[in-house]
Amino acid sequence: MTATNLLELDRDALAAYCEQLGEKRFRATQLFRWIHQKGASDFSQMSDLARSLRDKLAGRAVVSAMPLVSEQASSDGTVKWLFDVGGGNAVETVFIPEDDRGTLCISSQAGCAVGCRFCSTGHQGFSRNLTTGEIVGQLWFAEHHLRQRLGLAEGTRAISNVVMMGMGEPLQNYAALLPALRMMLDDHGYGLSRRRVTVSTSGMVRMIDRLRHDCPVALAVSLHAPNDALRDSLVPLNRKHPLDQLLAACRHYLDNAPRDFITFEYCMLDGVNDSDAQARELLALVGNPATGVSCKFNLIPFNPFPASGLKRSSNERVAAFARVLQEGGLVATVRKTRGEDIDAACGQLAGEVQDRTNAKVRMTRAPVQLHRVGSAAAVAIQAGHADRLETRT
Ligand code: SAH
Ligand code: SF4
Repeated sequence: MTATNLLELDRDALAAYCEQLGEKRFRATQLFRWIHQKGASDFSQMSDLARSLRDKLAGRAVVSAMPLVSEQASSDGTVKWLFDVGGGNAVETVFIPEDDRGTLCISSQAGCAVGCRFCSTGHQGFSRNLTTGEIVGQLWFAEHHLRQRLGLAEGTRAISNVVMMGMGEPLQNYAALLPALRMMLDDHGYGLSRRRVTVSTSGMVRMIDRLRHDCPVALAVSLHAPNDALRDSLVPLNRKHPLDQLLAACRHYLDNAPRDFITFEYCMLDGVNDSDAQARELLALVGNPATGVSCKFNLIPFNPFPASGLKRSSNERVAAFARVLQEGGLVATVRKTRGEDIDAACGQLAGEVQDRTNAKVRMTRAPVQLHRVGSAAAVAIQAGHADRLETRT
């Protein structure tokens, strides 16, 4: 019999598990607090837990995160962990300390099937979904590891914010994501506020609706383009869920969201989506009273990798683009790149994935047409060759 990993169980599921063992449901809350608030994995240490339960758990259950492969610390305090998810696959988790917060960037899948042109994870293809325990286990491991490492006093948290912005498309792994989010928010678990847990999506319209209903947290949407033609070529999912549907889902989301705006992420790609004309087109798109949405823009300087065939916009271009949005009345910030010396910045998380979708082959074969908005010129970008693909561990 394989042991049950208790990191897989939110509090309700843990209560059901306790019942199965012939114990009272309320014992689950005590157990949950030991695991998530204290970071305990040894049942014999859980001193206020009924002896009968401790005995039953020993041998039947474990509390275990994914095996750690490596840890890298950046000179700016960012820490990146690589976890083994079996089958030759690995995923990454990044901690980003700032003055007023500690943010953990969590992965939801080994690889990603969406296949965005500018994303190193997308270029790797998809291997598998992470389980609830593997998702929340990244937080469990990082929180308790950091508390020790930083010498934090009992009860002081290292991580105040979670962003689902690591490897993978979280809304394509909804069944595992949902209990993990609930554990992050649970007062007996990590007690994070809904405003401090952000799900980032490339635009899974139906799943945005479900999240609004099931567990509304802060929402970030990876927009990257002001029109369907360009977005189709950058974020292939757009062909299925075009911008009008996406913006409608964003507007509905705000009816029930902890924040009164959506964060639009916009990866700045030189000569592709970064002109003043495109910034004005964005203003028209999101500012339209009928079709628009209350939002803030987060401009992300592209983190280049050779196989993408794309380049980062200059700092001046990013600043000019931000200015057009700001002058149009929007909040637009430029994301600081952190942990660059350890490849921990956005879109650089490559882990290592045994591609089951042949994304590498697809991407290297098919030239992508990237249309410049406001110009007749279509820029054909030939993706790099397979032997130039980067795999970072
Ligand atoms: N799949 C989700 C979340 C993970 S990606 C999503 O796409 O939203 C997290 C963010 O990193 C997204 O906004 C994504 O567009 C951005 N990103 C991906 N590759 C990047 C790169 N090479 N440079 C900068 N940002 C990148
Ligand atoms: Fe997947 Fe997000 Fe990367 Fe697109 S940007 S390939 S959705 S991880």
